[in-house]
Amino acid sequence: MSKPESVCVYLVGAGPGDPGLMSVRGLSLLQGADVVVYDYLSSDRLLEHVRPDAELVFVGKKGFEKHIGQDDINRILVEKARELERRMRDEAVRGVPRRAEGRCAQAVPSVVRLKGGDPFVFGRGGEEALALAEAGIPFEVVPGVTSGIAACAYAGIPVTHRGVSTSVTLVTGNEDPSKDASTLDWPSLAGLVKRGATVCFYMGVRNLSLISEKLAECGAPSDIPVALVQWGTTTRQRTCVATLETAARRAREEGIEAPAIIVVGSVAALRERIAWFEDRPLFGKRLVVTRSREQAGSLGSLLREQGAEVFELPTISIVDPESFEPLDDALSRLDSYDWLIFTSVNGVERFFDRLSGSELRFRDARALAGCRVAAIGPATAAKLRSHGIAADVVPAEYRAEAVHGALRDAGFASGQRVLIPRALEAREVLPQLLSADGGEVDVVPSYRTVAADPEHLREFASLVEAGSIDGVTFASSSAVRNLVEALGDAAGALLRRVEIFSIGPITSDTIEQAGLTVAAQAAEFTIPGLVDALCEHFTSDDRPGEEQRAGASPKGV
Ligand code: SAH
Repeated sequence: MSKPESVCVYLVGAGPGDPGLMSVRGLSLLQGADVVVYDYLSSDRLLEHVRPDAELVFVGKKGFEKHIGQDDINRILVEKARELERRMRDEAVRGVPRRAEGRCAQAVPSVVRLKGGDPFVFGRGGEEALALAEAGIPFEVVPGVTSGIAACAYAGIPVTHRGVSTSVTLVTGNEDPSKDASTLDWPSLAGLVKRGATVCFYMGVRNLSLISEKLAECGAPSDIPVALVQWGTTTRQRTCVATLETAARRAREEGIEAPAIIVVGSVAALRERIAWFEDRPLFGKRLVVTRSREQAGSLGSLLREQGAEVFELPTISIVDPESFEPLDDALSRLDSYDWLIFTSVNGVERFFDRLSGSELRFRDARALAGCRVAAIGPATAAKLRSHGIAADVVPAEYRAEAVHGALRDAGFASGQRVLIPRALEAREVLPQLLSADGGEVDVVPSYRTVAADPEHLREFASLVEAGSIDGVTFASSSAVRNLVEALGDAAGALLRRVEIFSIGPITSDTIEQAGLTVAAQAAEFTIPGLVDALCEHFTSDDRPGEEQRAGASPKGV
């Protein structure tokens, strides 16, 4: 049992690949972890949930130059737990307050060991638990959805099926069946298969021909269905169905490699009738979202929901201003302002973030009690409402001139003081109009927009060159302009190699002005409308023959 002052190591099953398949408890523990130890089978997208101050330790076994053995991983877990315990003790002595726990599950400082699938199913989680037990370190195990079952489910293969298969056996395919040392009971496995039962082999692709031969030799029928599911539950999932006799050749021909599950049994034939995951409209399409990181979420998740693999390429990102001094100064004198004007959702977010972290008497909506508040449009007004402020003024049109008119109608007069917290590079029209009317206007920077990250741009360029991008989406003219500008001379050549999708006519004009062609435009000029346009485009029968695009796969999937 873990004592409250102690630390805990959680062996957490990350699920088979689709980040949505991790357990609620696992996710909650991940969100609260101080240290996260992970490997190549756990989805990168799960790491987005990790606290920004958490320590990330990669112990991947694949694509990693230096091989980290299981003993090393066991040692790392013990060391990280002890290190964390020392750090906590030291901080407690110095009186450093423990951070707010938020909504995470654990009450103690923790190391989360994230493991693909289930930690105890061919995951060597048992060895890690033994090492922790031996070192006297408290630990807990959070089971995960194992790939042998999940990959089958996503391929339309129920591992048991009334009247077809009454059992499922999970087997390692890692042992060379030709060796005398094989601990597997091949005659029993072949007997199970013969009676219609399901046998799932993990880590078996390289040994597939040996596995099939051995099963056949022990009496399994050569025409029994065999399916291979590679990268199951991810947008890279590929499935191939053959028979015991043909599976090895087919897998080789189709280039199926690890990680894959081999399912032997009659249930594999059900796929023909109940496959579903690979039928999603955007399944396997590799699409780029060009919105800023703050906005990319909704479009990205809608596209993923339709089966796409999404690469986020923010053409701008929102960061802190050069200095918070002017904003802090304005916050300390909030009651001296008559008007507070917000010109974007980000402006509202940033303002309230800073306010809540301040030393002021009121660090929430009450600080605004003395001012009237204007929002440039409905989205900004909605954001204000979420902070408990009903905007006094929301103009019908989203332009500075319209805001000015609406403010005047609402009683703005000469001599009144106005605060506009926003990005400095925005248009200066509104403050000028208000000053010309005799207002005393303070524009204070609450955030800054910066251009796309050059490393992201390079990665995007190499993915396009490798033929690994199917489409690029634009949800605003500014995203088009920013991306074209950021890519510089290479923009035309790169963007002509992909299909381009636009949210509406204004954005389409900008795309065409840049010398590019719009593959499809949303009928309804919204994010869901854009997603619909993509789905329709990729599922319509009259599309020009689609070449097989192969190559590198986008990160962050
Ligand atoms: N603990 C993991 C298994 C780790 S062993 C679990 O419970 O799923 C590694 C093997 O798991 C791979 O060789 C492959 O056979 C299988 N595997 C892991 N992820 C997979 C996936 N997304 N699709 C298909 N097979 C997968």
